[in-house]
Order: sequence, then C-alpha cells, then structure tokens
Amino acid sequence: MRSYTRRVRLGSIGFAGVAWLLAILSYQHAFRLVAAPEDVQASGLAIVREELVVLEHSDFGRGRRGSLIVGEVRQLLAEERVVFAPMTTTRGLTWDPILGGKVIYIKVIELGGDKFLHQRPSGIMEALVHEAVHSLKNTRRRISVEEECDAFSAGMVAAAFVAGNPPPSVLSVDGLPVAEFVEKAYPKAPQDPGYKWVGE
Ligand SMILES: [Zn+2]
Repeated sequence: MRSYTRRVRLGSIGFAGVAWLLAILSYQHAFRLVAAPEDVQASGLAIVREELVVLEHSDFGRGRRGSLIVGEVRQLLAEERVVFAPMTTTRGLTWDPILGGKVIYIKVIELGGDKFLHQRPSGIMEALVHEAVHSLKNTRRRISVEEECDAFSAGMVAAAFVAGNPPPSVLSVDGLPVAEFVEKAYPKAPQDPGYKWVGE
C-alpha cells in the first residue's frame, strides 16, 4: 500500500516534470526567429566569410583575445549556427534552447515584399563577434554585466577593424561608457566580480 502511494506520488511528480518541460520547450519554440530566405543567408554568410579574413589579419585577430573569438566564429559557421533573420529589437541574438542546439541570429532589415537589406559589414561583424563572446562563455545563467561589457567591447573593436577605422581608445555606446550603458540596458543582469574577459 505504501509503495503504491509512493508510486502514485512519483508518477504525479513525473507528470508535472514532463508538463513543465513541454511548457518550456513550447515557450522557447515560440521565440525562435524565422530565418530570412536562402539567398539572404547565402549573401550574408559571404559577407561574414570575407570580413572574417579581414579580422584575422588585423591586430585584433592576431592577438590572443581576437584569435579566440575569430576561432569561435569559424566554429559557429562550420556548424551552420549563424542564421540571418529579421528582428526589431537587437542586431544579434543567441537562441540556446534545451533541445536542438544553439543558433546565433544576425539581423537583416525586412523592407516588405520579400525584400531584405543586410546591415553594414561592420554591423554584421559587431553583432557576430558580440554573440561569439557569449558563445565562448557558454553559460545558461543570466548573463552578467561583465560578460555583456566583454561582448560589447569585442564587437565594437572588431567593427572598427572591419570598417577600416582605428579602434576607439574609449569604448562607448549611445554616448555612455560601455559599463554604464550595459547597466542601463540590462537592469536585471547580475554582477560577476570574478568574471574573466575572453583572452584574459
Ligand atoms: Zn550580449
């Protein structure tokens, strides 16, 4: 009798667990972005491959930090995890569901009537390098302020090299120092004082 009760209890816990998992999976599925058409993917990836060579040969790519990040971008490309998709809120996004594997989305601008416009190459690479930092850190916890600063900084420096500009000596976003911008833009991000920057 006792074991029957226990089995029933375990059964109901199991059912609740499965129901939760299904709820989480369908929630995650609902947030999956819709990829742009095939020719938009091909032209976007061609830009990425071309600019990656520029980055590899820059001071950024030759340094320890840059070579780790460029290596991660190459890995993501090899695994076909870089996908161009229309989005409104951000220029890049990592979607990392429990099942199915990580996807890095890069923004394309949807003009309507099946017309799409890529960001500038420096914008594409800024977003991709930013997401590659998150990919290297590979955490499912809420991303810390420090990791966002790391990602924004890497993206901005990479973008400068792609655009042929000298890398900025002081990094700022929307007129604010990176850390200040991140704290405003991600008010719920936790602090992680022990965070190690990529390449550190
Ligand atoms: Zn980020």
